[in-house]
Amino acid sequence: MTIQLPNPSQHAARQRRIFQSLLLPGEDRARVTEVFRALSECGLRREDPRLRALVAGLEELPRDATLDEPSFFDLTRQGLLVLEAAISGHLILPEFGDFAASVREVFAEAELERGGKVADYIPQLGRVAPEQFGLALCTIDGQRVALGDAETPFCIQSVSKPLNYCFALEELGEAAVHRHMGCEPSGVSFNELALNRDGVPHNPMINAGGIMSSMLIQQNEPISDRFDHVTSMWTRLAGGVRPGFSNATYLSERATADRNFALGYSMREHRALPAGANLVEGLEFYFQCCSLEMTCDSLAVVAATLANGGMCPVTGEQVISARTVQSCLSLMLSCGMYDYSGEWAFRIGLPAKSGVSGVVLTVVPNVMGICTWSPRLDAQGNSVRGIEFCRRLVERFNFHVYDGLGGGVRQKADPRRRSKVDDRQLLVDLCWAASEGDCEGIQRLVLRGADVDASDYDGRTPLHLAASEGRIDAVRCLLGLGASAACRDRWGNTPADDAEREGQTMVAELLAPSQATRSA
Ligand code: GLU
Repeated sequence: MTIQLPNPSQHAARQRRIFQSLLLPGEDRARVTEVFRALSECGLRREDPRLRALVAGLEELPRDATLDEPSFFDLTRQGLLVLEAAISGHLILPEFGDFAASVREVFAEAELERGGKVADYIPQLGRVAPEQFGLALCTIDGQRVALGDAETPFCIQSVSKPLNYCFALEELGEAAVHRHMGCEPSGVSFNELALNRDGVPHNPMINAGGIMSSMLIQQNEPISDRFDHVTSMWTRLAGGVRPGFSNATYLSERATADRNFALGYSMREHRALPAGANLVEGLEFYFQCCSLEMTCDSLAVVAATLANGGMCPVTGEQVISARTVQSCLSLMLSCGMYDYSGEWAFRIGLPAKSGVSGVVLTVVPNVMGICTWSPRLDAQGNSVRGIEFCRRLVERFNFHVYDGLGGGVRQKADPRRRSKVDDRQLLVDLCWAASEGDCEGIQRLVLRGADVDASDYDGRTPLHLAASEGRIDAVRCLLGLGASAACRDRWGNTPADDAEREGQTMVAELLAPSQATRSA
């Protein structure tokens, strides 16, 4: 895809429209607080790397500062595209405030769940306060929500598996990786001593497959470099947030790892390991990857990177290829939720991976990544609240992969679409601005997505109204925005006809040639 950069005059026109849309009625300077309000209303954060220069410039100013056009232009040389998309409602979830409010409700409903038991096979997990509940989401445009204990670090455990699989795929390619593992659900428990008919792990999402991915990643490098490689990949996936490491968890995992050692030896016996693999080192590397610590907030960005085909939404870096992400998401959908995977795919219909620390990483492809964390687990080892949150979310919104089929399941909301009410309101406001001759208002509403040629129940467009009222500047402005002078209302009149009838001769003259050229 080639991206067409705007030429300098288009760029200036866009800056002007954004500036005008930030002005409060009757003011000609933009308030700094308005810029921040516009950003946070659509879920963008001040720390967003794409907005760094803009925010740094704004934060140097006093809180109550206002900006004239030239200084606004100066500040928005970077970050303009994001700001424009935010203000004009062109981010993936255009009515983000409403969506975030629903998410808060769903979160509160899921919080009522008090069932389940914290994993206690190692003391580091057993000691975690069970009541904690965090949620974060990040859209593919970097819109963010963080609730509850979203900033509390926890060990990622099995959520390391899908990503280690990605790292192995990136390095070795699908054919080489899948010589050492399959892509079928195992049908048995995640840590079962079982391999498939070819003597390799059933898939990369269960323990045997997770160990295998760890064996494959940078196999010939020193273990320290392999660990650095993995942490640096996580940092890039998370938009620059480096994972922590719980040494206590690692030591406990290693000390209680008879089953994982048994899996390793069984794979070696079946000659499933890559040639020259150091079994103990590979297992230790696997425990280390499980002991990385992250928060819901940073994992949501990782999930959003997957939702976005491997490109991190907040840095714009293509961290892993879309092909790799496709393989990973396919297996997360069929195998990511332990023995609940089939039912999860059936009911929730989204790729996800859970871990025994109570984390659930869920991907809504092309929309967003979600991470929940709450330590109490159900009988299958999945976080009770994590499952409940996703179940309720998918009940409200059409996120299940098959919700869109044949326009089915219409009772669910689609947060990717602006509501009809909103579109109607935009038209009402645009007609009003046109008849009042409010050019700034017109620009602002068109920037927000109002259709310049939409008409009311009488077939009258904003141009009809501006023409009847003799608002010559508004007529010029609407024509400049591409309004058609040839449209007819339900009495068959064009805007020029209206101007003539109302005695607005200047407007009639202005419209006559454009009408002629348009209808020619
Ligand atoms: N460290 C855990 C194990 O290998 C991972 C458990 C999990 O989250 O599924 O037993």
